[in-house]
Amino acid sequence: MGSNVLYIEDNPDNMMLVKRALESRGYKLLQAMDGLTGVNMAETEEVDLILLDINLPDIDGYEVARRIRSSEKKSSLTYLPIIAVTANALKGDAEKAVAAGCDVYMSKPINIRELWARVEAFVPSPLNPSQKA
Ligand code: MN
Repeated sequence: MGSNVLYIEDNPDNMMLVKRALESRGYKLLQAMDGLTGVNMAETEEVDLILLDINLPDIDGYEVARRIRSSEKKSSLTYLPIIAVTANALKGDAEKAVAAGCDVYMSKPINIRELWARVEAFVPSPLNPSQKA
């Protein structure tokens, strides 16, 4: 199993935060700054998990999730783990994200320990000794 995480996020500060946090655990971060780029990368790159912002400059995160789930270019995207990262959990974003096909969600501001735990629940850290052969 690989350890490539695709983060679809238009906020550079969040992107940098997540990049540092995940690379410190041995993951490789692929970056998409808008929804359509994210869908395209999911279909063409080797991706093991997606972190998905909801408020994006082109199509929103719900639409990204729907397009990924229904991709005709790559059938494995049907079950690829998607973690939504929502700014407005109290406004129903989280429920909408799950309805659109995301597996779980986490709220902004991003908590690093929660991020590690959420990601590791799907994709083991390459640096975790218990996972090494
Ligand atoms: Mn955003």
